[in-house]
Amino acid sequence: MQPLNELYPLLNNPRRVVITMHQKPDADAMGSALGLYHYLVRLGNQVTVISPTNWAGFLNWMPGVNQVLDFEKDPEKAAEHIADAEWIFCLDFNTLIRTKRMETSLENAKGDRILIDHHQFPQVEKFMYGKSDTGKSSTAEMVYDFIIESGNDVKLNNEIAQCLYAGVMTDTGSFRFPSTTSSVHKMVARLKEEGLNHSQVHEALFDNFSESRLRFIGHVLLNRLYVFFEYNTALITVPQADLVKYEIKTGDTEGLVNYPLSIEGIRLVAIVIDRGEERKWSFRSKGNFDVNVFARKYFNGGGHKNAAGGGSKDNLENTVSHFKLAMRENKDQLSTYQF
Ligand code: 5GP
Ligand code: MN
Repeated sequence: MQPLNELYPLLNNPRRVVITMHQKPDADAMGSALGLYHYLVRLGNQVTVISPTNWAGFLNWMPGVNQVLDFEKDPEKAAEHIADAEWIFCLDFNTLIRTKRMETSLENAKGDRILIDHHQFPQVEKFMYGKSDTGKSSTAEMVYDFIIESGNDVKLNNEIAQCLYAGVMTDTGSFRFPSTTSSVHKMVARLKEEGLNHSQVHEALFDNFSESRLRFIGHVLLNRLYVFFEYNTALITVPQADLVKYEIKTGDTEGLVNYPLSIEGIRLVAIVIDRGEERKWSFRSKGNFDVNVFARKYFNGGGHKNAAGGGSKDNLENTVSHFKLAMRENKDQLSTYQF
C-alpha cells in the first residue's frame, strides 16, 4: 500500500471513481463517503457511491444520499460501476469481507483500491494507496485531512461540512471520547466557517425515530438487561421476536449499547441482537479493557479498543453462554478496574 499523499498530484486528472464503505453504514461511513463524493465531483470526477447494503433512515437527510446505490438492491448495476472504475475508495473499513456480498466484485476490480480508515489491522496487500490511522477520531476526519492536505481547502463547502460533521460527531460520541483531539475541534471550527448548522445535523440524526423505537428501548432496558457487578459488566440480549413486535428497522438499535455505560462501575457492555441470519454483537468499554481484542478472540469480529462488534452463527442461547464464559475468562481484567 503506497502512502495516500502519492494520489495528490494525480487528483487533477478526472477519473471514473467509486466510493464505498462497510455494510450497514453508520453516520461516519456514509458521511465520509458523501463528503469525499462532493469533493471529488467538484474536482471534475465522475463519482458513484455504493453501499454494500441498505442503511438507516436517519441518514437520509445527507446531501447526495439519493445518488447512493444499494448493492443488494441492484447488484448488477453496482457491480458494473465497480468493474468500470479507475479508482475505488474504501472508507471506514479495512478488510473486504466487511462489504459482505460485495466482496467478490471489489476483489476482482481492475481499478486501484484506495483505503482511508481508522480501524486496526488493515489488509494492506489489498490496497494500492491508502492511509490507515487508528489515532484518528473518524474516517470523516481523515477525509477532511485528505481535502486540506491535497491543497484544495477552497473546495470545502456546506454540503461537505454537513456530511463530515455527521461522521466526526457520531464517532466521537458527540466530542466525548478520548479520540477527540484539538485537531477535531479545529476541523469543526473550519466546517462552521462553511456555514455548517450543527444543531440541524444533531436533530436530523437523533430526533427522527418512531414512537415504537422509544418504547422498544424502554422494554429492552427493563426486561433484557443483565448486570454482573462482580465483573463490572452489563449484557443486553434481544430476541428476534422483539424486533418484529416493535417494528425495528435498520439503525433503530444503534446507540442502545451505550445506555448501560451510565451505570456506576460498568466498564464492559455487550449487546447481542438476533437478526435471524446471525447473532450480531456490539461491545463498548471504558478505560483499558480492549473490546477489539475481545471481539476478535471470541466473536470473529473487530473494531476499536473501546467500540467493537462481531457475529455468531450459534443460536441466541448458545452465543450468550459463550459470552458468559468469555467474561469469566477475563475476570481479572474486568474486576480490578480502578474508577
Ligand atoms: P457497532 O457496535 O457500532 O456496530 O460497531 C463498533 C465498531 O466495531 C465499528 O467501528 C465497526 O466498524 C466495528 N465492527 C462492528 N462489527 C464488526 C464485525 O463484525 N467485524 C469487524 N471487524 N468489525 C466490526
Ligand atoms: Mn468510523
